[in-house]
Parts: sequence; structure tokens; C-alpha cells
Amino acid sequence: MDCIFCKIINKEIPSEFIYEDDKVVVFKDLNPQAPVHLLIVPKEHIESNEYINESNSDIVGHVFAVANKVAKESGLENGYRIVNNCKEDGGQSVNHIHFHLIGGRQMLWPPG
Ligand code: 5GP
Ligand code: ZN
Repeated sequence: MDCIFCKIINKEIPSEFIYEDDKVVVFKDLNPQAPVHLLIVPKEHIESNEYINESNSDIVGHVFAVANKVAKESGLENGYRIVNNCKEDGGQSVNHIHFHLIGGRQMLWPPG
């Protein structure tokens, strides 16, 4: 499958994982938007939040628990933002579900 995140997960593309377990990997975004910008990516290839339902939604809770742990380890005691871009209007550019963990500066609201 021609999916860049599957290739990263399968180590076909070498990348440094900040965190890995049996369900998710965490690595730095290539184009960081803040001093800390990590991607938390489920290992299962799910295209977007459109495909999250009652049978597979446990992964989302796990992602948030991992975000809490990784945020603490990344010095984000003052807070952070978790973002999921879903499909075209959401600004999704990689069609493998992922969650941005962004911090290290004051976030703006509303987002652009
Ligand atoms: P999206 O726009 O789909 O919400 O987020 C995709 C993110 O993946 C973007 O922030 C982009 O910078 C990042 N990205 C795209 N390709 C790569 C890659 O090959 N390696 C890493 N580390 N990040 C990537
Ligand atoms: Zn994938």
C-alpha cells in the first residue's frame, strides 16, 4: 500500500520514534508548527476519523493517554493542543489517521 505513514510504521522509511507500543507510534512532524510538534499514529491503517466507530474507537482513548505521557516527557507541563484533521475541509493531507500533539508556545483560537 502506498501510504507514507504505513511505510514509517513498518520501518521501510527510517525514522526516530519518540514512543512505540503495540498500537501506536509517535514521531516528530517533518514540518513542525511549534517548538514541539509530534504525530501520534495508530499502527492500523485507518484512513481518517470517518472510519472510527464503536468497534474501533478504543484506539482514540489510547492515543490520548499516550499524548498525556509523551507531553509530560516533552516538557509541555503548561499545556498543549491535540489536533485531528479529517478529510478535505479538515485539512488532512496524509490519509492515515493521526493526531498532532503541538505545544511549546501559546496556541491561537480560533484556528485558521
Ligand atoms: P495532516 O495535514 O494530514 O493533518 O498532517 C500530516 C502531517 O504529516 C503534516 O504536518 C506533515 O508535515 C507530516 N508529514 C508528511 N509526510 C511526513 C513524513 O514523511 N515524515 C514526517 N515525520 N512527517 C510527515
Ligand atoms: Zn497507512
